[in-house]
Amino acid sequence: MSATDDLYREIILEHFKNPRHRGRLSQPDLTAQGTNPFCGDELEVTLRLKGETLEEIQVQGKGCSISQASASMMTEAVQGKTLAEVETLTKKFKAVMLEGAPFDLPADMEDLQSLEGVKKYPVRIKCAILSWNTLLEGIEAHRKGQKAASHVEGEEGEHPALAEQVAKETPAPSSSPSAREEESLAAQVQAALKEVIDPELNINVVDLGLVYDTQVQDGNVQVTYTLTSPGCPLGPVIKGQMSAMLGRLPWVKKIETTLTWDPPWDPKTMASEEAKTELGIW
Ligand code: ZN
Repeated sequence: MSATDDLYREIILEHFKNPRHRGRLSQPDLTAQGTNPFCGDELEVTLRLKGETLEEIQVQGKGCSISQASASMMTEAVQGKTLAEVETLTKKFKAVMLEGAPFDLPADMEDLQSLEGVKKYPVRIKCAILSWNTLLEGIEAHRKGQKAASHVEGEEGEHPALAEQVAKETPAPSSSPSAREEESLAAQVQAALKEVIDPELNINVVDLGLVYDTQVQDGNVQVTYTLTSPGCPLGPVIKGQMSAMLGRLPWVKKIETTLTWDPPWDPKTMASEEAKTELGIW
């Protein structure tokens, strides 16, 4: 992997971790919702306008690192610009992503160039342009005198049913005290395992998706985990680290670790957004 790829991943990850202009404006002049059912990304863009100028923008949402980082970069690029400038900029960025146009955006927007590497992955292009399409849709609605707009990434026709299906419902909090206690112990186990770093990849085993299952009962902790490859020479190191970190929890009486190869580790589906970005998996 080239040094440029490394740098680009760092820029994307930095925006994902520290998104700019994050939040929701109170009493916005315009609100635009965007969803990308292909990946589950969701965004809400709120704008304050002063005449034809985009005076302030805030974005909140959830989803993959590409969608959230692109939205963060967008807020920096468009705030303070006129709506016509924003439209031109959006078209230019989309031309880079969708048509392979050369990157020719002002120097203060160079962070956006980091998203160019995503072009090779058509599914992720939708993630990268979601915030921009959502903003465009909002500007269009504003021109028609509306205050709200929504955009669904994909075919030009909208698929609200699909978006709804993808929107994940948050599970209701469990109410019984023992269930709450178990949840808190499970969270402590997760936190302890997050201290276990795969020395080869320098990412913790939880974010890598190596921990398949944890069970807590009467002070006994059972961990089912895998390794990045069957030939991984670091197996004993990782097992030892898991026992050491879990052993620090005052209530833990017994630790059982079980190594499994079923299913084989697949970072594409198992690793966290941060880990995937660090590994360069889009
Ligand atoms: Zn995405």
